[in-house]
Amino acid sequence: MSRILVTGAAGFLGSHLCDQLLADGHEVIGMDNRVSGQTENLGDAFDHKNFSFHEHDVTEFIHVSGDLDAVLHLASLASPVFYREHPIKTLKVGALGTHKTLGLAKEKDATYLFTSTSEVYGDPEVNPQPEDYRGNVDPYGPRSCYDESKRYGESLVRAYRDEHDLDVRVARIFNTYGPRMRLDDGRVIPNFAKQALTGKDLTVYGDGEQTRSFCYVSDMIDGLVALLESDVQEPVNVGNSDERTINQLAELVIDVTDSVSGITHEELPPQDPQVRRPDISKARSELGWEPDVSLRDGLRQSIEYFESRV
Ligand code: NAD
Ligand code: UDP
Repeated sequence: MSRILVTGAAGFLGSHLCDQLLADGHEVIGMDNRVSGQTENLGDAFDHKNFSFHEHDVTEFIHVSGDLDAVLHLASLASPVFYREHPIKTLKVGALGTHKTLGLAKEKDATYLFTSTSEVYGDPEVNPQPEDYRGNVDPYGPRSCYDESKRYGESLVRAYRDEHDLDVRVARIFNTYGPRMRLDDGRVIPNFAKQALTGKDLTVYGDGEQTRSFCYVSDMIDGLVALLESDVQEPVNVGNSDERTINQLAELVIDVTDSVSGITHEELPPQDPQVRRPDISKARSELGWEPDVSLRDGLRQSIEYFESRV
């Protein structure tokens, strides 16, 4: 049994990761300041004797007593709607929060996992994106608070590895969805699900021909755990390579919900990436991992959850 700190524990991915680690027999300390997360996501974890929760902003000094075997840093604003509302908080959690959690991992001699993002590739000029693609990011653009905070975070992780010999992992997460996403999260799947379930038109931004590749949460958690358990210290893409246009996604959500909703087009947010699809060869060969939940099945399970919330 290991003792593991998870930051961003009250969020969508953090709460599922806590549940999985507890089920695997570990002791888990969850940390979150609830800026976008909700403690109700931790309902199952709170029932577990090996779970404790610290309400704390990880941009401030972090004190955890006792040993730690791993520090998993998931805290961040993650939805484009939220991070554009809170650009300074986003930059601070990616920079200062990563610094504080790395310092803690060094102090405890713990393995460190950083949840980076496909956004380090920006609006990519190559598709799919392999890990050695360096990206196309605007440092002064409307999404830069998020993209650059994660690029800086990766660089800081690399520096702690080189200077302090810290045992590090970097997951470049691609669009992930599932139960426990907030209905008002603003990301495309909760938006479409809420609209389809309430008979409103689905709001497709732009012409809807931009693509994303959606990974179901259970696959993502398996991928993150496989990465943690590996010895791969270089960034690894974790995501599903099943690429769809946003128009196709809208039609699928209407179909799965059996909805009467139509589709309306709204203005495309500035610098919205045109394509996004992970090259997951490295995850396949080095982690022995690949996703296996289809978009249709994952949407069905997510919509069951969203239905209970609308
Ligand atoms: P989320 O918003 O549901 O969870 C993030 C959590 O971090 C929230 O509970 C929030 O309250 C917490 N947090 C933010 N700032 C904090 C701070 N200063 N101190 C303490 N807690 C803080 O987002 P998510 O989708 O679960 O994302 C988890 C991680 O995965 C993030 O780092 C995100 O950037 C990364 N990621 C997610 C996706 C995805 O599609 N879900 C894609 C790429 C990367
Ligand atoms: N999108 C959309 N309608 C919505 C919300 C999002 O068409 O109601 C589009 C958005 O412009 C982007 C894609 O869906 O092209 C994915 O957006 P999301 O905010 O989920 O994440 P991103 O991948 O852009 O970070």
